[in-house]
Amino acid sequence: MSSVLKTIGIIGAGQMGCGIAQVSAQAGYKVHIYDLSQERIESGLATINGNLARQVSSGKMGDGDRKAALALISGSADLNDLAQVDLAIEAATEDESVKRKIYAQVCPVLKPEAILATNTSSLSITRLASATDRPERFMGIHFMNPVPVMKLVELVRGIATEEATFSAAKDYVKSLDKTITVAEDFPAFIVNRILLPMINEAIYTLYEGVGTVDAIDTAMKLGANHPMGPLQLADFIGLDTCLSIMQVLHDGLADSKYRPCPLLVKYVEAGWLGRKSGRGFYDYRGETPVPTR
Ligand code: NAD
Repeated sequence: MSSVLKTIGIIGAGQMGCGIAQVSAQAGYKVHIYDLSQERIESGLATINGNLARQVSSGKMGDGDRKAALALISGSADLNDLAQVDLAIEAATEDESVKRKIYAQVCPVLKPEAILATNTSSLSITRLASATDRPERFMGIHFMNPVPVMKLVELVRGIATEEATFSAAKDYVKSLDKTITVAEDFPAFIVNRILLPMINEAIYTLYEGVGTVDAIDTAMKLGANHPMGPLQLADFIGLDTCLSIMQVLHDGLADSKYRPCPLLVKYVEAGWLGRKSGRGFYDYRGETPVPTR
């Protein structure tokens, strides 16, 4: 455990927030999750429960450790319950206006000395920091999906981030047994700056009829040795998140090579957001995923 941070607050009980909550509790931190409704909290806690139970049944974790981790996690739809946290990690929807609204509400509740971090995949840390009352104690702690499995965390400082904040975040991430890379505050940082244009190109390949969903994913799995095809990965990330990241790259770098594929826009408009909504480039509602094109 970090020597300075003991209690972690998570804002957003989605796939990332729950993953961060789980690994933090497994490392011994007390964790409180906040989301807009009790229903979302319950569904997040159920996901964590399921993940930990799977680790026990596959022999990766003892039942005592599972119980200990669960006992450290609480959740509520009351923002005031974040008053005692040392580090609050915002993992809400990838939408700048949503995040700004959250900071306006959460900053008056947090302890003055608490660190506020964002798990944003693409947005400017410096610009988000300016929407808080603590730019010096604000930074990006960017976990990868799924958090319990992926070893990397990107750390991103804004222009005003203090060394003590950076160093506390480093200690926290190391205590989770993750590897750190440091990225400068440019759109989408390192991983997504490289990964998302590749996914967007795969969607263009589908859009232009070069190949089917199955052909494209098989080509990249067996032809480029990727563990997962790019369309399967897009569904896994969430197509709304993929679109937001492409829009941030397009707007932030003003280069037409980052133009989001119209087919990606169409899927998001249809509410086909990938795994989390049951349908994306694959339909997940049956026994096995079926390509939708
Ligand atoms: P998600 O859609 O699974 O979850 C988002 C959660 O935020 C939802 O539970 C929603 O109810 C909650 N939320 C929305 N508005 C809120 C508010 N005002 N207050 C509190 N909670 C609110 O999304 P996700 O995939 O978990 O992504 C969350 C963040 O993590 C985004 O910034 C995303 O870019 C980033 N991220 C995602 C991935 C990925 O692969 N999905 C990877 C790394 C980082």
